[in-house]
Amino acid sequence: MSEALELQLTLYPEPVLRKRAGEVEAFGPDLEAFVEAMFECMRKSGGVGLAAPQVGDRRRILVFNPTGAPEDDVVLVNPEIVDRSGPVTLHEEGCLSFPSIYAEVRRPDRCRITAVDAAGKPLEATYEGFASRVAQHEFDHLEGVLLVDRMSPADKLRNRSFLEELAERYQAARDRG
Ligand code: ZN
Repeated sequence: MSEALELQLTLYPEPVLRKRAGEVEAFGPDLEAFVEAMFECMRKSGGVGLAAPQVGDRRRILVFNPTGAPEDDVVLVNPEIVDRSGPVTLHEEGCLSFPSIYAEVRRPDRCRITAVDAAGKPLEATYEGFASRVAQHEFDHLEGVLLVDRMSPADKLRNRSFLEELAERYQAARDRG
């Protein structure tokens, strides 16, 4: 038995968050263990969703749970959003890669996603409301699109000191090597 993986959150403006993540090609126990570790990290951090780049991994993997009930855990590997529909709604979002930052984001209410699970089995699902919002937010991460890109200029201004602080912390960590 190997030790359980412990993943660390990657914070803005870490460059891995800006890269388009790559397709997962290897499935099985290693991937399943990684997905479990992602759920661990998400729960420990108080999040409702997590994408692999947020733990420094460049693969197209996302997990979320819109209710907190264990049976509502969702794992999407190599997801594609094949349809977005319904009214566009405006709702406040946070992000584990942007501690203390919240912004109102517009998204269509419904989305249909095709993906595979951690074993490589194909799946297709339609999400609505909050679940759809979380799925779209996490999918953005796989494309290198971040909360800061979806913010209105007013929200950017309101969050400016937090954004600057994150940039300074990142720079300081780099300078320390
Ligand atoms: Zn996020």
